[in-house]
Amino acid sequence: MKTLKEYILEAEKNGTAIGHFNISNLETLKGIFEAAKKLGVPVIIGTAEGERNFIGTQQVVALVKSLRQEYDYPIFLNADHTYSFDKVKEAIDAGYDAIIFDATDLSFEDNIKITKQCVDYAKKVNPDILVEAELGFIGSSSKVLNEIPEGVKITEEYLTKPEEAKKFVMETGVDMLAPAIGNIHGMLKGGKDPALNIQRIKEIKGAIGIPMVLHGASGNSPMDVREAIKSGMSIVHINTEIRVAFRKALVKSLQENPDEVAPYKYMKEAVKAVEVVVEDKLKLFNNIV
Ligand SMILES: [Zn+2]
Repeated sequence: MKTLKEYILEAEKNGTAIGHFNISNLETLKGIFEAAKKLGVPVIIGTAEGERNFIGTQQVVALVKSLRQEYDYPIFLNADHTYSFDKVKEAIDAGYDAIIFDATDLSFEDNIKITKQCVDYAKKVNPDILVEAELGFIGSSSKVLNEIPEGVKITEEYLTKPEEAKKFVMETGVDMLAPAIGNIHGMLKGGKDPALNIQRIKEIKGAIGIPMVLHGASGNSPMDVREAIKSGMSIVHINTEIRVAFRKALVKSLQENPDEVAPYKYMKEAVKAVEVVVEDKLKLFNNIV
């Protein structure tokens, strides 16, 4: 099987992107995997710190690996938003395929320093482990928002600057970069997030050359996401839309079957709801009509 890096480079070449979907339970993983398998496209499972504290760091590695082996399928695991070197190390030691060190609340210099430490450690353990870093703040929670989160500014002067991105990539040696280009974590009520700055994506891509990752794509229009992919985004993150679909379907199922106590019965519709959202996104990211 090809490595995650090879799949990413292939996507880059094809003008497509690999879907990255977050989980904190087995049911969501099942829904995502069903959708990917149906379309035959590679997929990345993400767990940020809170999510993996819940499902278990070692346990989620075992789950994803079991699918990869049983089905000989390109499904990979990423330690999404990780806020300290210790937590990065824990994920690498547990067997994650990729990690994201998120130091957007540190100074530019400290961000470079600790990111470099994460890169050095990952490559020492296994050169195939990919390290991604963030530059620019886009908010931190995957939920339905009433307004743009505090501290997130999406006017041009606050977006990641190409020259800054170039310096950061050269000094840290990261494999991938997640820039702030008008995207926000979570999605605004009604599902209409502000437009992405496609021009800035192109400029940053031109400056750094390495694959880029679009975070917080829940709530962005399909057209915007396609343009972002064509302009250099090789992985696209979706979390909130899956969470919303799962919860809605679960509530409905519980209401309709008040006497049902078997989780494998009342969770069925929630798994299906995740599958539907993920299939739709994977078609968009992989240009499947
Ligand atoms: Zn993110």
